[in-house]
Amino acid sequence: MNLVELHRLLILAGAALLLVACVTEQAALPVRIDGVTMGTTYSIQLHELPAGIESDQLQNQLEELLVDITQQMSTYHPDSEITRFNQIHSTDWFEVSLEFAHLVAIAQQLSELSQGAFDITVGPLVELWGFGTRINAQRPTDAKIQKLMSSIGYGQLEWRHQPAALRKRAGDLQLDVSAIAKGYGVDVLAEYLTGLGVANYLVEIGGELRAAGINPGGEVWQIGILQPDTGTALANRVLALDNQAVATSGDYHNFYVENGRYYSHIIDPRTGYPVKHQTTSVTVVAASATEADAWATTLLVLGEEQGLQLAEQHAVAALFLIRQAGPGFRLVASSNMPDIVDEQ
Ligand code: AMP
Ligand code: MG
Repeated sequence: MNLVELHRLLILAGAALLLVACVTEQAALPVRIDGVTMGTTYSIQLHELPAGIESDQLQNQLEELLVDITQQMSTYHPDSEITRFNQIHSTDWFEVSLEFAHLVAIAQQLSELSQGAFDITVGPLVELWGFGTRINAQRPTDAKIQKLMSSIGYGQLEWRHQPAALRKRAGDLQLDVSAIAKGYGVDVLAEYLTGLGVANYLVEIGGELRAAGINPGGEVWQIGILQPDTGTALANRVLALDNQAVATSGDYHNFYVENGRYYSHIIDPRTGYPVKHQTTSVTVVAASATEADAWATTLLVLGEEQGLQLAEQHAVAALFLIRQAGPGFRLVASSNMPDIVDEQ
């Protein structure tokens, strides 16, 4: 891990606690595997190990899968598929793994549904605003932002499955899949565990989670939601995950304040500027963590009004936390959002 990565890890470690740290009190968990990946932490909870596998062995297997993902999609790896694709200026097809092409296809679908609010070609803006591989908490000039806008746009990116490849329509295009990669990683680990015959688990990377089966207390897994400002549980309420995934996107996960103004790492690719509205976070529950992760970022870019409209249109289960004049937050949920129940 280089210094930049370590720095990011320290920033993200706090943010990552959002959902996980508050898994409600349950019977003692017999197996827990923890580690570091994608500039953040991951954790796996199981009732018991699959037959014939030691904890260390299972951890090695899971970490191999995570290494594969970072080799494909991490902009921190000098040699990853995404880094090499970002470095070329050619508009020819560039071969990538099927997994990466598949993830790009999902991202592109979200871009179309949201008319560009979600856009993995936002990479150059993320770098310019200082939230990328070079940490530089300084507001860029308007002229620099405008200059970059011509190299942003999901319409300038093509993908295909056979053979798996990506193509830039504009040579300057740069990808950043941070808004979807953690969720994808969670799904890869979850599906691997399912393949091993593990029926009950909770997999988490950087706060994005996927649950299967029941917790050791014999109930569906229950997840607490923390309040962004205080880090305390939101009115002691919990979300039950019935073989579902959940992801949260928050404007406070990475930000800086300059001259009294707050700049978040969530960037509106349509304007080139960080989002500036009262929605501070969006939590999405979905069948897969990839979907939940991508939708959470999309809805946070859109904010309460447009985000809720799009969530309803596509039957997405979403919870918006909105800043208000007084203390605490206003909660707005889409119709499909499971009830958040009072903790017993
Ligand atoms: P998440 O925490 O999943 O919401 O992802 C946030 C990260 O996604 C940011 O740190 C950026 O790297 C990237 N990002 C920022 N804005 C967008 C956007 N509008 N569409 C896609 N990715 C974005
Ligand atoms: Mg996301």
